[in-house]
Amino acid sequence: MLANQTAIVTGASRGIGRAIALELAAKGANIVINYAGNQAKAEEVVAQVKELGSEAFAYQADVANSDDVQAMMKETISRFGSIDILVNNAGITKDNLLMRMKEQDWDDVIDTNLKGVFLCAKAVSRQMMKQRSGRIINVASVVGVLGNPGQANYVAAKAGVIGLTKSLAREFASRNVLVNAIAPGFISTDMTDELDSTAKEALLTQIPLGKLGEPEHVANVVRFLASDDAAYMTGQTIHIDGGMVMP
Ligand code: NAD
Repeated sequence: MLANQTAIVTGASRGIGRAIALELAAKGANIVINYAGNQAKAEEVVAQVKELGSEAFAYQADVANSDDVQAMMKETISRFGSIDILVNNAGITKDNLLMRMKEQDWDDVIDTNLKGVFLCAKAVSRQMMKQRSGRIINVASVVGVLGNPGQANYVAAKAGVIGLTKSLAREFASRNVLVNAIAPGFISTDMTDELDSTAKEALLTQIPLGKLGEPEHVANVVRFLASDDAAYMTGQTIHIDGGMVMP
């Protein structure tokens, strides 16, 4: 299904990014496992990709750093020859109520979660336009649509990702570069493990399906967006949230 294609997945050493990398690899894509700091975990994912019969390498790059990002794209083209799929998955949270939120926490979250998407999309855009094909899949969040107290920085970044997705979809459409976003609800990963049990119970009452999602639920939709089955879709945000948002 994705044979001979190359996918870069940012923040792929664990959680949702890891599940996406493995799903795309299972369908035949070569994968660049981008990671921020944990090389051992990233190399584990590389080994798992190879067990699935695809090629992979791990690449350390801060998605908020333009030089890092450009070097990663250059290395990808030199090793695999193309960039067909970019999954902008890397993300962080630094939660606090607005009155207590430090300016640095605002900047850090916007830099990784929004500027990172801008830098990575910009860095692949020339190559994808030259190829006259490409898929950019941005990981937003349900809270980017609903808002969430205590997450002003994260919500602003994720809402920005949804707008950025629409803008890039319009810019790149004539070159057959399709740009879509996904908006996961609450997915069971290290990020949501940080929530205390009271917060988790309160959350479950807001999810019609009554349970947290799994990283594989998200990965399956990314695989669809990366495939020929989604060839007539661009600028969309698909919700994977157990029914939390029904637009
Ligand atoms: P996670 O914390 O397990 O994984 C995030 C990954 O991003 C980590 O591997 C981390 O090292 C990497 N990362 C962080 N900053 C980076 C940087 N500057 N450069 C490169 N990599 C960096 O979280 P997750 O739950 O797997 O989240 C993945 C994505 O899904 C994030 O964008 C997150 O905002 C989004 N999301 C998660 C949920 C959820 O419920 N877990 C819901 C909605 C959206």
